[in-house]
Amino acid sequence: MRAWPPPHTVRISSRAKRLLLRFHPEKGLEIVSPRRLSAHQVHEVLDAHRAWIEQHLSKLCQWPAERLPEAIDLPALGQCWSLAHVPDAPSGRLHADAQRQHLTLQGTPALLWPLLGRWLLHQAKLHLPPRLLEHARQQGLNPSAVSVRWARSRWGSCSHQGRISLNARLLWLSPQEVDYVLLHELTHLEHFDHSPAFWQALEERCLGARQWDRRLRKASACLPGWLPLIQ
Ligand SMILES: [Zn+2]
Repeated sequence: MRAWPPPHTVRISSRAKRLLLRFHPEKGLEIVSPRRLSAHQVHEVLDAHRAWIEQHLSKLCQWPAERLPEAIDLPALGQCWSLAHVPDAPSGRLHADAQRQHLTLQGTPALLWPLLGRWLLHQAKLHLPPRLLEHARQQGLNPSAVSVRWARSRWGSCSHQGRISLNARLLWLSPQEVDYVLLHELTHLEHFDHSPAFWQALEERCLGARQWDRRLRKASACLPGWLPLIQ
């Protein structure tokens, strides 16, 4: 069973004429309201549209929420973690044995999905920024900041201020694909757009850049089916 209410955000919009429910590709379930809502009112709205929301959520995620994966493959890091689940525990606990690449999870799946999400984000934060900074050093580039977060659509982004943000979902790409994304974002420090000059600079750093780019657009197929449950 899915936890109710599901994760959601509320956005106040003076342009909204009435209350609106939608599934945002980045934020998930979003309530857009012309005025501020109390927590009670938010719950009333969600309950009133429960059937519609459940239908959308089941389309987004086919993985049964009560089943944890048996293993977690992280190709970007060349790691494959095995999982042991102890369901009878009063609170949720995750223990990671890095030597054996083994996770012990205690508690109900509802408690464990968010813990797993935090642990995966931590793995991404541990490994992706150093890799980005190593490429930056080799290329003589200097991002002002690097962050890692869960995002639904983009693998990475680079702000006008030179801040690079990476998607923790990169954990499921091959090391070569990750390197392409890192070099792509780093090249934005020199060329902010996707102009021919950008592609030329990127091609010099990464042979076959446009092919890699096309490949990356389809790469979300490699993501595990349970991923929506941790976010
Ligand atoms: Zn770009």
